[in-house]
Amino acid sequence: MSDKKQIATRFAPSPTGFLHIGGARTALFNYLFAKKYGGKFILRIEDTDTARNSSEASEAILTSLRWLGLNWDEGPLYQSQRTALYNRYAQKLFNEGKAYRCFCTGERLEALRAEKRADGESHIAYDRACMNLPAAESLKRSESGEKHVVRFKMPDGGTLSFNDMVHGTLNFQNDVLDDFIIIKSDGMPTYNFAVAIDDYEMNVTHVIRGDDHISNTPKQLAIFNALGVEAPVYAHVPMILGGDKTKLSKRHGATSLTYYEEAGYVKEALVNYLALLGWAFDDRTEFFTMDELIEKFSEKKFGKTPAVFDIKKLEFFNQSHLKAMPAQAKAELLYDYVKKYMPDFRFDEKYDNIDYFRSVTDILGDRLKLAGDVKNYSQFMFIDDIEYPKDLIDKIIKDYGANSAARALRIIADIIAAAPDYTPAGLESLLRNSAIENLNFSKIAFLLRSSLAAQTVSPGIFEVMTILGRCRCDNRIKKLSAILEKQN
Ligand code: GLU
Repeated sequence: MSDKKQIATRFAPSPTGFLHIGGARTALFNYLFAKKYGGKFILRIEDTDTARNSSEASEAILTSLRWLGLNWDEGPLYQSQRTALYNRYAQKLFNEGKAYRCFCTGERLEALRAEKRADGESHIAYDRACMNLPAAESLKRSESGEKHVVRFKMPDGGTLSFNDMVHGTLNFQNDVLDDFIIIKSDGMPTYNFAVAIDDYEMNVTHVIRGDDHISNTPKQLAIFNALGVEAPVYAHVPMILGGDKTKLSKRHGATSLTYYEEAGYVKEALVNYLALLGWAFDDRTEFFTMDELIEKFSEKKFGKTPAVFDIKKLEFFNQSHLKAMPAQAKAELLYDYVKKYMPDFRFDEKYDNIDYFRSVTDILGDRLKLAGDVKNYSQFMFIDDIEYPKDLIDKIIKDYGANSAARALRIIADIIAAAPDYTPAGLESLLRNSAIENLNFSKIAFLLRSSLAAQTVSPGIFEVMTILGRCRCDNRIKKLSAILEKQN
């Protein structure tokens, strides 16, 4: 960066609901850019639209940002608490003849629009009826309490240009922009005005946001010009699309970060995947930790075409990041997850502790796609009182015969009871080399798994045995054997 100023970026959500995928991606890009260049990341809540904004939504956004690890260096700053500042700047522009009070009523403006439409005008700008009101009259009407807004006086002619980090140079004719409102009749600033004032006041050097904001940028530039200050550098990144190539929305499935957290996606996977929606390091490397992203992030690698959100790909990243996590951190994450989001995950008290939980998660390997998958693979190791489902019993009877399966299980129990080497390798070799009712090894393993897990999926069954211990294994094998005997 040639810029001498300290780099500062900001994330400026309007709190209308949960943080969504697109917002999280914008926040992440701004965060990465700031961190990459040793700058600061500011959080600004754009809550001046009192009808649509709520403090619950602000809180939810903050919570999701914290969850993702996008910690801000400054803020949260709330625009709703800064109205005096915006009004001061509006007054300054007014004093300099760059803004004026407009007393036109909604009805007048509507009639004006209708008239212009009828004349076939496509560009319907305000007709500046109030621009030249004598100063004394304007002041008198305002002081008498007449409802009015403040409009920005758009310079006549000329072009507004900026060099976008994604799109290159973009030019806009001043004449196509009308005298837009900067202060509404309730004294609140409009979005374009507050954004410009805040970006200036907060010394924001770079703005990375969705390209749906491109059309707002000239208005913000016009404000910077009127104030005689430098505008930030912009990067308008393409929108994120759903599978049908339309803008990602609820129609495509869940878009809120809260949903993904609750569904068992880990923040490392979301951060990694979101970073790739509109940015790439090269055409091969896809797995990144946050630190790697900070190191490798570059504004030169923003994509120009919209990225498509693919839940399968996110799931793949989730599996990869769960796999890559250090064992203790993974155990703690999964333990916290089941405690928070899986009220139906059962623990007998003696198995409800992080050390035992870790011994179980250590044998799961890379089986987990989502955090909650831990339940399917391991619930049976946390309770003593397991039930054998009827369809499992039926399958065993069908494939082995009840008597034969019961006998085989008894033999297995005896072999295990006498096992000299109670380790996964020792147990496996012992059972591989034992003759049990003429059953091949996979049939033996199936019976063993059914008896220990009461289901057909589990982590490596010999590892499961070391976690359950001899006594619990013995009980379970004999229990299933007895159930099968009774089927006759
Ligand atoms: N508050 C705006 C939004 O949520 C973003 C403003 C900006 O980035 O300039 O869309």
